[in-house]
This record gives sequence, structure tokens and C-alpha cells, in this order.
Amino acid sequence: MPLNSSKKDSKGRTFKFQAEIQRVLDILINRLYKNREIFLRELISNSADALHRMRIVQFETKDSILDPDIELGIKITFDENENTLTISDTGVGMSYQEIKTNLGTIAQSGTLEFLQQLEESPDAINLIGQFGVGFYSSFIVAKEVVVRSRSYPEDSRGVEWRSDGSGKFSVAYVDKADRGTEVILYLKDDTKEFANRFKLESIVKKYSDFVGFPIRIADDDQIVNRQVPIWYQSDEVTDEEFNEFYRQVSLDWTEPFHRIQLNVDAPIQFRALLFLPKQRSRMMMTSMYQDYGLRLYSKKILVQEKAKDLLPEYLRFVFGVVDSEDLPLNVSREVIQVDRTIRRISKVITGRILDELEKIDEDKYLEWWEQFGVFIKEGISQDEKRRKKLLNQLRVRTSKSEDQLIALTKYVEQMPDVQEEILFLLGESLPILKRSPHLEHYRKVDQEVILFSEPIDSFVVMHVTEFQGKKFKAIDQAEAEPFKDEDKEEEETKEEKEEPEKDPFLTHLKEILEDRIIDIKYTDFLTDSPCRLVNPSGTTAFTRVLKYMDENYVPQKKIMEINPDHSLIINLNSLFEKDPESPLIQICAFQLLENQELAEGSLQDPTDMIKRVNQLMQQALGINRNS
Ligand code: ADP
Repeated sequence: MPLNSSKKDSKGRTFKFQAEIQRVLDILINRLYKNREIFLRELISNSADALHRMRIVQFETKDSILDPDIELGIKITFDENENTLTISDTGVGMSYQEIKTNLGTIAQSGTLEFLQQLEESPDAINLIGQFGVGFYSSFIVAKEVVVRSRSYPEDSRGVEWRSDGSGKFSVAYVDKADRGTEVILYLKDDTKEFANRFKLESIVKKYSDFVGFPIRIADDDQIVNRQVPIWYQSDEVTDEEFNEFYRQVSLDWTEPFHRIQLNVDAPIQFRALLFLPKQRSRMMMTSMYQDYGLRLYSKKILVQEKAKDLLPEYLRFVFGVVDSEDLPLNVSREVIQVDRTIRRISKVITGRILDELEKIDEDKYLEWWEQFGVFIKEGISQDEKRRKKLLNQLRVRTSKSEDQLIALTKYVEQMPDVQEEILFLLGESLPILKRSPHLEHYRKVDQEVILFSEPIDSFVVMHVTEFQGKKFKAIDQAEAEPFKDEDKEEEETKEEKEEPEKDPFLTHLKEILEDRIIDIKYTDFLTDSPCRLVNPSGTTAFTRVLKYMDENYVPQKKIMEINPDHSLIINLNSLFEKDPESPLIQICAFQLLENQELAEGSLQDPTDMIKRVNQLMQQALGINRNS
């Protein structure tokens, strides 16, 4: 006995819908939707699917198939008096068991997500097919739905499924002569308009024009849809039609940003129609993303959806189709992965996409960059072979560019002759970066510094060491120490290597801050700020990458560099000379350190700082009152 209760009556057995389906139905039936017409797209898409499967069955078996010579096609009929609409196909059909399972339970997960989106916006109804419940969109227009089907084996029997959407459906054996499925919709009073030839034809043209099987309306022999896949056509297709196709493959309701068409004959034959979206989706950003937007066809027959191997991962936002005559029909996933053909196609289309990006008008490209720059950066850090090309596409903000983005190539062009390296600074955000004391020196010498504020930037600079012969250099790290021979160093004993007499003021500060910093030094890289914190030479990118990779990351200690010409440091030094034990020195030392940590966003615990600032305020106020 199945889970859902069953009882036999004259119309066969009655079953309950799976709870999720019933929820979908309740919402579909009770809400009013603007674009109710999409039900037809969904039913046609199911039919096309069944026809496609039938074609594959015919490839594989020749014997004992019902109606082996019948045309693979879809017919839409209507009855204005009865207010019915019927969509029938000559596809694989369904057996008793199949109809009961397929139209009563959900094979795919994600229904809850769909329901949630539907609650948020009625427009989400457009996505119904994507969530594997497309069939139920019939209840948007129908008060009762009857599905009659007969599966393709010669000895199959006809079955009938019936429901009014209120909790239950019935399944019974019936006589049905032909192979395939017909969905009969008993239209609601306010959806009678759909029993109309003109209306139906326009909907079919709008949504299903390129469905690869003939669609006919009523008993007219005329085929309504173009059938030939859009990627096989060139001249006759309008932008609007391309955009509609993009909508179907991407489920993105904005227009695409850019369209690329390819028709390649050698060394392998393939056609491709690719779209770059205007807007990224939240899903694309995650590493869990599986909904790759490319479909792989072989001679117009879909062999793989969400084809992952056709493009490098960082181009996962590209939608479209690739169709090759050089591919076998029954390519399994494993085979695809190693298939040389796929690799060659991938190479050609990847190269072409990057070429196209170079050709796009700069203003337009910059808008797109705001959405998709992060993917290009991902490519720069992952795709060694195309790194140079991708770096041409890199746009950056700099210490001089205000909020404008400029090309890395332009940055290099603008470098003064004396500047040998590409200077950059990594940080939490642009405002923080712009205020950074590390920039002071470069402002003074009039050199431009690239400001990297996205997490992915650390990965970029970790992988990219140079561009156009210029090395990348982080400006927040200690100048490299002159090269030391490590073996020699070990030979020297500690006593012999006794540090040169250090400035007693620095030594004192270092003692105070011992647990918090690696070392303290004077620097001439500062003009306005009393101090800065630098990473040990060559560690900047790596420490930041660690920060993003490791949940329990504890910030690395840094080297404190102080500005000997800053009045604060001068005064602190004279206080130290007068009264080395003054507690104010300690307060100031910690405050200097934590001010920097706070500005950089790396201050771990602000409680001490608050106490300290209160103390300082009290002292300042005390002095004022006394004077
Ligand atoms: P999806 O098509 O996304 O799986 P649907 O709710 O639209 O979800 O359909 C559920 C299932 O019912 C389909 O997967 C298919 O197995 C079956 N089905 C629907 N329509 C037809 C049809 N015209 N011919 C054969 N099977 C069909």
C-alpha cells in the first residue's frame, strides 16, 4: 500500500498529492498572476521533453514500439463551447505507475525555495519549470485537469489522471489508441480567452518558437513554430528573439549584456550562441554553484544540460548553447570530461569570450565590471595560461583615480620613469585604504598606488608577480632586508652578533609593546602620521589570504614604524628623556598601536582602548582645570 491513501472507485484509484505539491497548488489556484500564459510554455516544454526522450528510445530500440512511424510532434486543440484546451504529443507517454509517481510526487528538491520565492514575488511564477513543478502551472488556468497517456511499448495500456487540484487525484486505466500524452484543461471562467487560435499562436511564437518539434494548432496542418534552433539561424533572427531565447536559457528577465555567435568548421565543427548577463546572481558567487549556464547539443539534440566542462569555472556566468556534429549522442559525463573535442571547443569559446570583452566600449565595460570583475579576478588567480590576457581586462581603483576605475594597462602607462614597480595596497575597504598612512610617502613623490579592497584581490596578487615586465609590490611591508647567507649567519655565535647599540627610546617602546609587535623602527615613509604597521617583507598577500581561508585566523604581528619628525613622536621622546618611567609613555605607545589597528580594521578588543582614551581625556581635562 502506498503512503498516500488509496481507494478504488469507478474512476480508478484516488491518491493524495505529496504535501509540497499541494502547497504549490494552493498558491497557484488562489492567486492571480499577470503572466498566466506561461502554463502553455511549461506544458509544451514537458511534451518536447517526452518527444526528445522518444527520439532517443528510437535510436536505441527498433522493436516492439507502439506507432513507430508516427511523427514526433505537438498538437494544441481547443473547444470554445466546452472551454477546454488540449495539448497532446507523440512522446514517450507514461505507464500507470509513472503517471501516478510523476504527477503526484516531486523528484527534484527545491520546492520550498520556490514557494518562498513565490511568496516574495508573484513574478517568480516564471521559474516554475526550473523547480520541477512546471506541470502544475496548468492549475493557474484550469479548474480541472485530465491527463491521458499511453507509454511507448507496444503492449502498454492507456491511463488517465484526473484532478481538480484540491488535495487528491485519481488514476485509472482507459482506452487510448495512440502513443503519447494529452493534457486536457477545463478552463476557469476567467481564463476562457485561452481557447482562441490567435491567442494560442502568439503564445507559442513567444515562448516556444525554437522548440525542436513541430507544433500545430487545431486541425490545421500548418506548423506554428520555427523549430530550427536559433543557433542554426543567422540573418532572420531579431534581437528581441535572441533576447527571448536568452530569457529561456538563463531565467534572467533583464536583457543580456553581450551576445556571441560562433560557427566553426575546423578543426572541429561546432556552433555556439553565448550570452554574458548584465547582472550577476547571488548564486553565481558561491563556490557551490552548479547551475552552469551552457547546454551541450549534438546535432540539435540536447546531450548535457549545465555543461560544466565547456568553460573554465570563472566563466560560469555565461549562458547559451554549444552544438557540435563531432560529438556522439550518448556522451556520458565521464566521457565528456576527458573528451578531446570538448577541450578544444572550450579553448575556442573561452578565447573568444575574452577577445570580445576586450572589444567592448570602455564605459559599458566598466558598468559590467562592477558586477563581474570579481570573476575576471578569479580567472587571473586561477588560469595561468590566460593570465596575461585576463590582466589586460583588470580594472582597478588607485590612490589617484578617485572613484574611477582604470585599466591596469593604463596604470602602467602612467608610471613615472623612476617608478619601477606596480605599487598596491590591500585593505578592508576603499575609505580605509584612502586614509592609510602607507600612502603618504607615495603622495609626496607623486606615485600612484593601486587600492585593492575585495577579498579576491589577495588571491590575485598572490598569483600575479609581474605585468609587462613590472613587478607587483605591496607598500605595507618592510623594505626587504639585504640578502644574508643563512649558513654564514648560523656560524656566527649570538654574542658575536650582538645587535648594534639601539636607540634607548625605541628599545623602551619595544619593551612596552613586546607582546603585540615583531619590532619597532624609524621610517621616512611617513609625513602626516606618527606611525604605521607593516608586514615583514614579502608576506602581505599571503597573510591576507590566510585571513580569508582560516576561520580561526589570528592576525599576525606586524612591525611598527614610527615617524621621527612627527610632533607626537618628538614630544614622546623628550618626555622619555626627562622621565623614562612616566606612565604616560606606556599609554601613548599602546594608543599609537591600537589607533593603527583600529584604522586598518584589525583591532581585536577595543576595551583597553576605551579605558585608555578615558584616562587621557581625564588627564587633559584635569590639566585644563588647573591651568
Ligand atoms: P519536470 O518536467 O520539471 O520534471 P513537471 O511537474 O513539469 O516537472 O513534470 C513532472 C514529470 O511528469 C516529468 O518529469 C515527466 O516525467 C512527466 N511528464 C509531464 N508531462 C509529460 C508528457 N507530456 N509526457 C510524458 N511525461 C510527462
